[in-house]
Amino acid sequence: MDAAVKADFDKSQLALRSELSACVRLMHDQGILNYNGHVSARVEGEDRLLIHSLTTPRSAVGPEHFVVCDLDGNLVEAAPGLKAPSEIYIHSEIYKARPDVGAIAHIHSENVIAFTLTKEVPRLRLMRCDAVRWRSGVPTHPDPTRIRNMEQGAELAATLGPHRAALMRAHGAVLVAPDARAVFADTIQFDENARANLLAAALGTPAPLTEAELDALSEASPPKFIDHYMNKIWQYYVQRGRAAGLLPEEWAEHLA
Ligand SMILES: [Zn+2]
Repeated sequence: MDAAVKADFDKSQLALRSELSACVRLMHDQGILNYNGHVSARVEGEDRLLIHSLTTPRSAVGPEHFVVCDLDGNLVEAAPGLKAPSEIYIHSEIYKARPDVGAIAHIHSENVIAFTLTKEVPRLRLMRCDAVRWRSGVPTHPDPTRIRNMEQGAELAATLGPHRAALMRAHGAVLVAPDARAVFADTIQFDENARANLLAAALGTPAPLTEAELDALSEASPPKFIDHYMNKIWQYYVQRGRAAGLLPEEWAEHLA
């Protein structure tokens, strides 16, 4: 652990901070995060959120690199040298509006941004079987600028509404889920679905999932299966990350 930025954080948060660190490093390894984008989680039972510091490269984020903010985006707790991301209001305002949300990913993936850049082509469609999770809709937020204040954050939260994901015009996307592992799986598969759209469009006329197919997929995916599946995705990427040396062995007990 880097002594210069070592935080005297609440050790009860170590597991959550380790999970979030793994999310960030693994999404970075997949090219879904780069020099931009972030992952956060709500601190259970508090009007607080944990998010990695603006000053730490995504490839190097560890448990000691998180700051705590309140739901107005104010910095509440941070080790010396650490800062909240400038787009903290994406996270604070969505947690404020959505008590069901426990974790948020904000990404600038090229596969996803492409679906905010066309005039005549339909928006992102549900192509892969896993995309049934976004059946309620994926709205596009019209503001292409960085989300740099509470008002803009609240507008984004209003665009997201009750959904699990929203695109952000010429900027990226935001995904929400009950916890960090679920938002990780969602983000990976949201990006896969976007890429499937692009590939299908390159081959011919895309044939998105029909209503009948979506009904069948919903029926075949009860909550117990979804939990199992989310964990399978998480364990797959954690094992890859450990084998590649992306994730320190000392985190293993928190990632199992
Ligand atoms: Zn952004």
